[in-house]
Amino acid sequence: MTVVRWAPSPTGRIHLGNARPALLNWFFARRTGGRYILRMDDTDLARSTREFADGIEVDLDWLGVKPDLLVRQSERTALYDTARDRLIAAGRLYPCYETEEELDRKRARARLLGKPPIYDRAALSLSEEDRAKYEAEGRQPHWRFKLDGRPVQFDDLIKGPQTVNTASMSDPVLIRADGSYLYTLPSVVDDIDLAVTHVIRGEDHVSNTGTQIEIIEALGGTVPTFAHHNLLTDAEGQGFSKRLGSQSIADFRDQGYEPLAVAIMATLTGTSLPIEPFESLDAIAEKLELSMISHGAARFDPTELNGLNARLLHAMSYEEALPRLTSMGLEGEAIWLLLRENLVRFADIAELSKLLTGPVEPVVAEEDREFLALAKALLPPEPWDENTWGQWTGALKTATGRKGRALFMPLRLALTGRQDGPELKSLLVLLGRRACLDRLP
Ligand code: GLU
Repeated sequence: MTVVRWAPSPTGRIHLGNARPALLNWFFARRTGGRYILRMDDTDLARSTREFADGIEVDLDWLGVKPDLLVRQSERTALYDTARDRLIAAGRLYPCYETEEELDRKRARARLLGKPPIYDRAALSLSEEDRAKYEAEGRQPHWRFKLDGRPVQFDDLIKGPQTVNTASMSDPVLIRADGSYLYTLPSVVDDIDLAVTHVIRGEDHVSNTGTQIEIIEALGGTVPTFAHHNLLTDAEGQGFSKRLGSQSIADFRDQGYEPLAVAIMATLTGTSLPIEPFESLDAIAEKLELSMISHGAARFDPTELNGLNARLLHAMSYEEALPRLTSMGLEGEAIWLLLRENLVRFADIAELSKLLTGPVEPVVAEEDREFLALAKALLPPEPWDENTWGQWTGALKTATGRKGRALFMPLRLALTGRQDGPELKSLLVLLGRRACLDRLP
């Protein structure tokens, strides 16, 4: 069975860029009948909060993703400690005592000498006494993983064969001086422990993958299959930032967008599939393969979101809309079918429905007064149906010689007070004769 995980750090609410891996993992799990784990990467105690973690759950649920399991790294420290001890015993994790300033100086010196600023592994040659001396000074060690320094190769399901040369990287710090874990080790330990088969995440993690494959191997775990997707950027080509709260999923929800529209934008942008309505997340999952994700940029276009949201609403059945219509006191299939055509966001219907219920401020141009008076006189008797509009305007055309815009627009402006809006043919029937007489001057 396939097992995937989406692993947000709860240091803010999620944005569109985070929704991309959240959903791509979901699609993969659905396509393969696999398991989806939501993993809170909350080892950074200073920046992670339970409130953000709860918010992420709410956002994910709103998008339509239902995880099979939720784990919090903050509750799994014992596992990481065990892995830590094994790596230390295997000589792959070693204590370092340099302060930030000392490391800065080392890097500056390397740059002056024209060398890459890679950690020089000085701590590897410290003796027992050296360490005891540092600790007596009150220095606590941070711990680095000793890289193999050989090229790590893997077949990426999106990017194809990849090589990460860990020889050009500093041995990564896995444990901070205060004993807390950085992201790298807990992620690997959890992936092994939870038997994750596929890691689908942003391409900013490709070099981490090189390091993590080495750690997995050092721990005797099975290396999962990796897929690194392009990152979503905003319309200006900038990455979305959690801390700025720009275009968070919660913002889109509050602005009244359909979750499906947001999900489609978050995942189909920057793929070979066109941005278009889908019936459900499962329908996208059936169609979108990882290989369709492009290697180039994925730039989010907010105007495309509006268009897509509108198209989803225009195709929405009455049954689907009903719960929300009921809560707004707007039941009636004919009303929905008429008004949905003009919606960009669902909530627009509250304003649009006033075209039926009033009050409407008719707009009447002086030069149309006579024409509208005639229109009023020629308004057919009830009962009305979809043919009434044709009969009425046909009679008006014969009587006045007006046609096209000159014929329809004064009627629209008088009946609705606006230049655009729902189809008049159907609106007329729903309005009824009494309301039309009231609105015509
Ligand atoms: N917490 C990491 C992130 O948000 C997870 C990366 C991963 O999927 O391994 O970038």
